[in-house]
Parts: sequence; C-alpha cells; structure tokens
Amino acid sequence: MSSRRMITVEGNEAVASVAHRLSEVIAIYPITPSSPMGESADEWSSKDQQNIWGVVPQVVEMQSEAGAAGAVHGALQAGALTTTFTASQGLLLMIPNMYKIAGELTPYCMHVTARTIASHGLSIFGDHSDVMAVRQTGFGMLASASVQEAHDLACIGTSASLKARVPFLHFFDGFRTSHEVAKIEELTNDDLREMIDEDLVAGMRERALTPDNPVLRGTAQNPDVFFQMQEARNSYHDACPGIVQDTMDKFASLTGRKYGLFDYVGHPEAEKVVVIMCSGAETVEQTSAYLNGAGEKTGVIKVRLFRPFSLDHFISALPTSVRAIAVLDRAKELGALGEPLYQDVATALFQAKLRGMRSAGADPVVIGGRYGLASKEFSPAMAKAGFDELGHDNPKQNFSVGVTDDVTGLSLEVDDAFDIESDSVTRAVFFGLGSDGTVGANKNSIKIIAENTDNDAQGYFVYDSKKAGAITISHLRFSPDSLNSPYLIKEADFLACHQFNLLDQQDVLRYARKGATFLLNAPCGKDAAWDKLSRSVQQAIIEKELKFYVIDADAVAEKAGMGRRINTVMQTCFFAISGVLERDEAIAQIKGAIKKTYGSKGQKVVDLNFAAVDQTLANLHEISVPGQVTANRDRPPVVPDQAPDFVKQVTAMMMAGKGDLLPVSAFPVDGTWPLGTTKWERRNLAREIPVWIEELCIQCNKCALVCPHAAIRVKAYAEKELEGAPASFKSMDYKGKEFGDGTKYTVQVAPEDCTGCKLCVRVCPGKDKANPERLSLEMKPQTPLRDDEAENFGFFLSLPETDRSKLKPNVKLSQFCQPLFEFSGACLGCGETPYIKLITQLYGDRVMIANATGCSS
Ligand code: SF4
Ligand code: SF4
Repeated sequence: MSSRRMITVEGNEAVASVAHRLSEVIAIYPITPSSPMGESADEWSSKDQQNIWGVVPQVVEMQSEAGAAGAVHGALQAGALTTTFTASQGLLLMIPNMYKIAGELTPYCMHVTARTIASHGLSIFGDHSDVMAVRQTGFGMLASASVQEAHDLACIGTSASLKARVPFLHFFDGFRTSHEVAKIEELTNDDLREMIDEDLVAGMRERALTPDNPVLRGTAQNPDVFFQMQEARNSYHDACPGIVQDTMDKFASLTGRKYGLFDYVGHPEAEKVVVIMCSGAETVEQTSAYLNGAGEKTGVIKVRLFRPFSLDHFISALPTSVRAIAVLDRAKELGALGEPLYQDVATALFQAKLRGMRSAGADPVVIGGRYGLASKEFSPAMAKAGFDELGHDNPKQNFSVGVTDDVTGLSLEVDDAFDIESDSVTRAVFFGLGSDGTVGANKNSIKIIAENTDNDAQGYFVYDSKKAGAITISHLRFSPDSLNSPYLIKEADFLACHQFNLLDQQDVLRYARKGATFLLNAPCGKDAAWDKLSRSVQQAIIEKELKFYVIDADAVAEKAGMGRRINTVMQTCFFAISGVLERDEAIAQIKGAIKKTYGSKGQKVVDLNFAAVDQTLANLHEISVPGQVTANRDRPPVVPDQAPDFVKQVTAMMMAGKGDLLPVSAFPVDGTWPLGTTKWERRNLAREIPVWIEELCIQCNKCALVCPHAAIRVKAYAEKELEGAPASFKSMDYKGKEFGDGTKYTVQVAPEDCTGCKLCVRVCPGKDKANPERLSLEMKPQTPLRDDEAENFGFFLSLPETDRSKLKPNVKLSQFCQPLFEFSGACLGCGETPYIKLITQLYGDRVMIANATGCSS
C-alpha cells in the first residue's frame, strides 16, 4: 500500500481526481461551477494520465448537457465505467436520461456542484434547487459537506453503485465546496483499487449490450406491464442504504475516515437537533459544539445519503432525548407544505411512530426552513437562530434564515454579534479585482503554507458573476488545528486592499479586527497615501488601531518588468508582514513557488518575478498613523443624487456590497427590474482609457461599433449645440453629407465605464501618415483624465440623438443611433455584447432579444 500524501486542492479538483481515475469514458459539457471538473479531466487525459486500470479515460465534450447525458447512457450500456459533471440547468437537461439509467439499474456515479436554477432571475451560485429537482429519478443521492468528504464520497459513490446497481448523484455545494481550497489527504490508486470490486465491474460489463450476447433493452410498454416493472426494482433500492453503509465502513477501515448515512454529532442527550446536508452541516456542528460548551443540549444530523432515504438509519441516528427538530433546506419548493428534506424527515418521524420505532415520550416538534439560497451566507449566527427558534413556544414553520422577510414575516432573528471563531485561527481577507491576480496569488499562498507547515489551511473566494473586473474578496484561514469553517470571515487579523479605488466604493475596513494589520496598494506612494484616504477610512484605521502598511505595487511591478501584474508583489507583502510564516522562510517559499509556476515559461519570466519579490521588500512601508482624522473629503456617494429612487435604494446598496441588508420588501415580486440602471454604476475599471486625436480621425465609427460596453460613442450635431460645452470637449467638422453643412462630429469616451479593453484602438484605422504607429485613439492613464472626461461625456449625452429612421443601416451610420444596451457587466473584450448593442441601434426599442441564461444575461 503506497502512503498517502496531503494535497491542497479545490473541491472540484478533489472530486475530478477520483472520478478520472475510476472512469473509462467521461462525457462533459461546461457549466458553472462544475466546469473545472471537466477541464481537469480533459487536461489529464490529454496528458495521457491513466485510470487505475492503466487506461487513459476518453473525454468527450458534447453540444449540451442533454448530449452529455445521452453519451453517458450510451457508454454505460456498452459496459464502460462512465461519469459526468454538471450543475443547475445542465442537470435538468439530463433528467430524461437519468430516468433511463436508473430504470435500467445501471452502476454509475455522476458529480454535481449543487447550484440554484434560474427563476425570477439567473444566478450562477450555489444551493440545492438543482439536485432536489432530480430526487425522483431513482438515483441514489450522496451529499458531501467538505472538500475531503467530496474526495472520499466520489469514491464511495462509485464503489457502492457497482454493488447496489443503483446509479448515484454525488453532490456538494457549488462554490462553497467546489471552489474552496483545502488541505486534504489524497486517496491513492491502491485505495481506489481496494474500494472497487473487480467482480462487480465484470458483472456490469456482462450486462452490457453486445452483439455477442444480444438482448433487447429500452422497450415500449403498455398499461398491462409497465407498473409491475416499476415495482420489480424495489428490492434494489431497499438494499441500497445497507450497501452504502457497508461501503462507508470498508472505506473507514482503509482510511480511518468514518462516514454514516446520517451522522449525529452533538450532546448525547440533545433536546434540540438540526437536520441538514452539505457544507451547512459543518457550520451547524461547530455552532452546536459552542452552544453545548455554554450549557445547552444541542446536536446535528448530517445527511449523507439523501436517496434512498433510510428510515431505520435516520431513526437510529436521532437521539432519543430530542424534543425539537429544525430541518434546514438549501432549496425552496414553492407551494409545498415544506421543503424536500423537511418533508422526508417529517414523513420518517410519522412512519417511525406508526411502526413503534421510537420509544414512548413526547413526539418532537419538527419545523423546517430555508437558508443559503444562491450562496447566501450561512453563518454560525444563523445556525444559532435555528437552535434558538426550537426553544420558542410556537416556533415558526417554513421559516427563512439569512434574509429579512418584512413581507410574510417568516425570517428568524439573527444575532450578528455571535461569533465562534477560535483564537488559534489566523484570518486574512483580501480585496481585489477579477483578473488582477489576487485570487491566484492567494491560492498560491495557501499551498505554500499548507504544504510546508503543519498548519491546516482554507481559502474561499467571493466572486461577482460579472467576472473580469468585478470585486473579489478572498477569505483565508490558517490554523494548527483542523479547519471546518465553511462560512465567511467576520473579523480578520490581516486585511489587504489590492486596488486603491475600492476604498471609495466599499467599506473595506469592516473586515478588520481591532489591532489588525492593513496592507494597501497605494499608487500614490507612501508619503501621499494617508492624505488620499477618505475621512471614514482614516477614522476606521485610528479607531481600530490598525497597523497600516502601504506599497505602490503597480510601480514595483512596472519597474520589475511585470506590467500590470501585481500579484507577486502583494503576495510578498502578505508574507513579509502577516507573520504567518517566518519572513525569510516565506520569501524562499515564494521563490520556490514562482519557479514551479513560471518555470515552463522560461528563466526570464522567473527572474522578473524574483526581481519583483526583492524590490517589494524595499518598497513596503509602515505608515505612522496620526492620532486624528485629517482628510476633508468623505467616501463619495455610490450613485449621484439625481439617480431614480430604485437605484438609490436598491442598486446602490448592491454596488456598495450591502445587498445582503436589503429586506424582502425592497424587491419586485416577479423579477421585473427597471431599465437603464447600469449607467448609474461607475466601475472605474480601466487604468487607461482611449483619448481621441481628432485630426487623425477618418470618422469611420468602427470604435463605437466594437465597444462591448457602449463606452465610446459618436455623434453628429449642429454647430450651435456646442454652446456651453466644457473647455476640454473636442469636436471637428463632420465630413459626410447626411446631415447637411455645418455639422459637427465628436468621438467621446465614458471614462468611468470604459474597461480598458483596447478593442476600439485595435480597430481604429485613423493613422498619422508620418508615423503610422500613431492612431486616432491613444490609451492614456484614466485617473488624471477622469473628471474632465466625465464632464465631457455628460455634455455629450445632452447633445440631441439622431433619428434612426432617417439613417441607412450601415456600419458607420448605425453608430449615430443611441445604443439602448449600455455599460454591460460583460468581461473585457466580450464579442457578444456589441451585437446586442448594434441590434438596439438598428431597431431601437421596437425589438425583443431572447437569449439563453448565462454570461450575456
Ligand atoms: S477600451 Fe474597450 S471598453 Fe474602453 S472604449 Fe475602447 S472598446 Fe470600449
Ligand atoms: S475608429 Fe478611429 S478613425 Fe474611426 S471614428 Fe473611431 S477614432 Fe475615428
């Protein structure tokens, strides 16, 4: 038996590692947040990585999840060990094949990053809406609560399925588990071989469809026989829970990690019990332990096998002392008496009573509620609210926890001050922007610490679905003890802000505990940094007694030849001042990691990164914090006063990172949203924006055509309209004949909405003949231009719009029409949004555009 190693991986990779080694065919189609599993499997097979039988799994990407499910069904019928990965709508597209696979008693284990389903709006985030929508298909359903569990249950699901002949859907929380980085013990190939019974694999192959032994499968049946055949499979589902438990027991004897179908953890004479599955179970377990330490009698049942739901195992797990049970579902079933897990628990207790399975005594009160929909945070304070509710005389039924429901009054009160974090845990929070390297650097730091010390490590990254350019908040924990904290950090020991502008957009310092270390990337340099801060930021630094460090990371990266990539610089700062590792050792480790990461790109890239590390230490400064606030400006309002009420009351809260505080009553009931709200959001993502050099412009309007965000625009207008124009507003005579003599022409950028993608510059044909490198659009730093150009853009918008009905629909003239699709949150350089924008320019508001859910919505 080869020895096992500790690895630091994301949940998706932990699962894919087992799935790839236990499969011959892997049919995939990408969907967030499951895509990394398919990508890993594809990469490994492309590198000829073999499964435990010495064969490279065949990875096939289909045109949709329906196609992937069809391919899976076909491969299974041909006797191949097969898997797939999916989530959300992708899983729904697989439902017809899932019924077939289950109906044909086919061993199979698929892996799902549980994610919500688009309803009133699309959300890419995690809950159990998708998996609850397939619980009727006949699949066994295994729920994992952590990265280690997801790794382990991926193996247990495959192994048990071979024996039970029941296919399994193995699921874990999208993002919270799928994207959490954790230190786990890796299963070896020997472990996997031990867990897979070759006779059962042979049995599966013998049942495959083959010309050597032809049979008919997939018949059409009439009312006379279909029903009986549905019932004929009962014994397989009846036996399945016992087989899964046997498999878990075998796994425990092999690895020492014990799992039960329903694992009870808590006070031996618990009176209040919460029933829950997936990552929330860890939060409830920690909260219960804390409450028991304070004299309460609480416990949690962690559901691992949700289908088939075993009455015997559930009742055995439930303490006989229980007086009240709260069932927490991460899904909402509109119109039902309760959510899915609640219904099963209520039915189980009812049946147990009928069968006399529970000893005499008062029947427990059972209530059910919802938590964590679409990755809404589920904290220990919320878990405590569930336990507290069980102590009330008339506990709420169908409650919600984590939102303020001021409409139907179903939400539980949550004590936000409740905190159970241990002092032994070092907590660090980092603010960055998507694609600025912050998340990548933090993943790297976790690996360095986890793999070179005895510390346990955990990383979780809060993303915005706007992807590139949106705010990312990284939550990192390090501890000499085991970490099981699938919730966000409330108060950090170390706080870093990698983008200076974010301090004006959000209350970044809310995450700092008293006496914490605060690291700021200040492009203004150390001497000007304090004066550049707003009053509220200065106030927080003083009141919280923060140790305040600054570095001009952009300048250091630039000087080191790394352009805009500040990740190595900021990572070095973290290790230099956080004290998580001894400084010299940390620097050596960073350099080791650089070699590993960039070695394949050549020594030059490695050397650039080494230089950045060395220069960082020379440019990192602690700021002596004055005793009082000196700034005379405060954080600017999120949206201007002239914004509509809805924008001020709802959208502005979301932009400020305070959307969680909005009550239910703030929202439209059916997902209908007012138009034109994006123009109030000033993202200020671009470090450089295009500047128009009018004498080189040939007025082709291609810049406006290609811009994905409608952030560069053109107008032709009468000269008199220039009255009152700002001094820096540019214009030139219009060269075309469409609008008559005396027409003026302007190309104008919206400086705070431009993302700096440079598409407009790339397409610009206006050249200086003497110097063809010099174009009519030139990228220049945004900050010094911002105020003037914002005023110019405001004036530009006040110029009259052109009547689109009078223009020929060609490339040039279409751009004189007002775009009705503007400032999209799409990624930099998106190829899809310019078309949607163009359609609105061609057809105005007399058009309906339908699109699939996903990126462009
Ligand atoms: S740089 Fe990109 S976002 Fe900015 S104006 Fe040009 S095309 Fe639009
Ligand atoms: S693409 Fe260049 S030449 Fe054409 S209108 Fe824009 S700035 Fe002028």
